[in-house]
Amino acid sequence: MIDLKQSVQYIKGVGPSRAKLLSLLGVNTVEDLINYYPRTYEDRTKIKKIEELQDGEDALIEAVTVTAATVFKLRRNMSVSKVMVQDDTGRCLITWFNQDYMRNVIHAHEKYRFFGKVTKKLGQIEMASPVFDEEGKSKNTGKIVPVYSTTKGLPDSAIRQAVENALSMVNAKLQETLPEYITKDYHLMELDQAVREIHFPSKMENLARARNRLVFEELLTFQLALLSLKEQYDNEIRGIKYSKDVHMSDVINTLPFKLTKAQLRVLEEIDNDMESEKPMNRLLQGDVGSGKTVVAMIAAYKAVKSGYQVAVMAPTTILATQHINNFNKILEPFGIRCGLLVSSLTKKQKGILLEKLKNGEIDILIGTHALLQENIEFKNVGLVVTDEQHRFGVKQRSVIAGKGKNPDVLVMTATPIPRTLAIIVYGDLDISIIDELPPNRKKIDTIAVKENMTDRIIQFIKKNVDEGRQAYIVCPFVDENEEMMDVKSVEKLAENYKNEVFKDYNVEILHGKMKPKDKEQVMQDFKENKISILISTTVIEVGVDVPNANIMVIENAERFGLAQLHQLRGRVGRGDTQSYCVLVAKESEERLRFLESTSDGFEISEYDFQTRGEGDLFGTRQSGELGLKMANIKRDFKMLLKAKEDADEFINMLLTFETNPEFEPILNELKKVDTLD
Ligand code: ADP
Ligand code: MG
Repeated sequence: MIDLKQSVQYIKGVGPSRAKLLSLLGVNTVEDLINYYPRTYEDRTKIKKIEELQDGEDALIEAVTVTAATVFKLRRNMSVSKVMVQDDTGRCLITWFNQDYMRNVIHAHEKYRFFGKVTKKLGQIEMASPVFDEEGKSKNTGKIVPVYSTTKGLPDSAIRQAVENALSMVNAKLQETLPEYITKDYHLMELDQAVREIHFPSKMENLARARNRLVFEELLTFQLALLSLKEQYDNEIRGIKYSKDVHMSDVINTLPFKLTKAQLRVLEEIDNDMESEKPMNRLLQGDVGSGKTVVAMIAAYKAVKSGYQVAVMAPTTILATQHINNFNKILEPFGIRCGLLVSSLTKKQKGILLEKLKNGEIDILIGTHALLQENIEFKNVGLVVTDEQHRFGVKQRSVIAGKGKNPDVLVMTATPIPRTLAIIVYGDLDISIIDELPPNRKKIDTIAVKENMTDRIIQFIKKNVDEGRQAYIVCPFVDENEEMMDVKSVEKLAENYKNEVFKDYNVEILHGKMKPKDKEQVMQDFKENKISILISTTVIEVGVDVPNANIMVIENAERFGLAQLHQLRGRVGRGDTQSYCVLVAKESEERLRFLESTSDGFEISEYDFQTRGEGDLFGTRQSGELGLKMANIKRDFKMLLKAKEDADEFINMLLTFETNPEFEPILNELKKVDTLD
């Protein structure tokens, strides 16, 4: 018997050293382990014929040995055991490295089941290091086996064993968390069964049901968390009241352009929030290039001139750097002092910066989301702006605010999502939308082509670069090993482009694995047109602003979600020349042609949400950003709607009958949700 709250080291077979490794995965208690769900599964139940085996797949075969296993010495300390096996369709060579005992356990002319990775070379079929069972046994085969994400030094099988032991040591059934009326209504599996099935599925259908049940619970808890968060803001928490005597129009009048109607409307909403005592908690949605940054700047002006500091968080260092330049341009004339906190600062520089922040000698601090983790102290922060969806619960607020007041929070999204969806997944936030682009924007010419057009694209890039323009080329991955061979990677492409195709041009690469300093340098050089062609991963996706760049080529466009392609496209069309976006894909896809036809981000995200497609990242990305582990807001959208309904009903009931014991367990679950901490 073991208690859920006990440390994992008391589980049979775990012990202190494995417990340490598990804690790297965020698994400390027995309960954590039980809630550490598999990343994927190996279905070792379906026997394949040798003739059907595909190169690279994991497969199960049932075959008879032609001989006994034989051991070959390769070198000192290195041997390989080989045995040829056959079924009625063909032969397969089985190999194991450094497992000489195989010659004693694999006998001639006997039937076994083998499960392992298949390779096919020149007509020869091989399986390397398979697990196996003798005829009639099912120790390693005949079941669905969970595969866990793991860490160095901790084999996947150790986690599997630990989970198995934990589940058998937890004697009592796991306590049900959902009220009975909900499990009954939706025919949901009980928690105890669902958890056991999610780790060790008895069959595929049960795995699906177990997943369903756990997804529903996650979505319900998520919805409840949002609702109670909103309750708190609306009724309990007091924020800052900014001065009515500070007028946003003072900055607006100094801008080099006229704000759009949509920008002005949104600013009015923000102004009202800021002047009220309720903490602002607002999501600002706006298409690429709709001018969200300037809105944030004006809000920051209001905060600073009312006597408070502002924190601005960007998703990348590149963007943070860009922001500070823009902020300075507009706000410096008002005597507002901005500081930039990025990892490339020296210890000394950083110390000075933080000291100034503490003394109030810096009004606006700009940095990445690391601002949240850093141990930084403001004098009196009053407004937090985060560029890109970044959940901002009570906990994050207090981290930023220190012991001060509850700051106002403005969340800006780079990827707009349909309003219906936004209301559900950002149920705790008020929503403002900029649904209009600044005038005189030229439409970006978008064209989806197949790979055989590469030569023409290259000529087109050369022609534009010769005229002084710049181009982006985006690939899905950094290096070749990262994924399949047929997907273009930055390094592979760059090698060819730098040395051959564009050898007379300035070509550079940019990707997330580079050092922050190097990234900044490359971006700076690109801005100054010292680099003409930038080959990059999606790190340049959000916000980067280089008006002179007018071509965006996206390789393997089939691998990106539409919303993401639209974001990438938004990197061009920022200057006064005609811009182009070329989507290169294996197949011509309807999805991609849709992008040719529209440039409205909301329309695109609606389409993206409604259609399903391989390689579509919409759901996964959004779900991850929302902190959902199992649920996918796109795939599980119907369930999300139900969960929302139930959560509403639930909260109403709670308000009416305060202590219904049936709600206890789910309310306890709720306490564990991050956004509420
Ligand atoms: P995003 O909403 O994608 O963050 P930005 O804030 O980066 O967009 O704005 C894109 C560009 O448009 C910037 O160069 C900005 O100065 C400019 N801009 C913003 N608002 C207007 C406007 N009302 N009229 C003209 N240009 C504008
Ligand atoms: Mg932006």
